[in-house]
Amino acid sequence: MAYAAATATPADWSLQTWLIAIGVILLWVAGYAVACWLWPFTRCGWCEGTGRRTSPSGKAWGPCRRCKGKAARIRTGRRIFNWLKVTSEDAK
Ligand SMILES: [Zn+2]
Repeated sequence: MAYAAATATPADWSLQTWLIAIGVILLWVAGYAVACWLWPFTRCGWCEGTGRRTSPSGKAWGPCRRCKGKAARIRTGRRIFNWLKVTSEDAK
């Protein structure tokens, strides 16, 4: 399956292959959406989850400005979810 996917070009794909590909993408998106709902936060990439920004010497440190020292960052998927929620509440 993986070998066939690597060698076949999209033009050679049959309708069935497209349906499987779309199904896999939808499953992945659904799984990601559930994961964002259950675990809305991820490790801050700037401070690598420490909440601190250390100086080049490594001795001095201050709170990370990106996450304000919380070490957590809202995941992109959750941000979209929140945005959709706010948008739908505005429509009421
Ligand atoms: Zn941070």
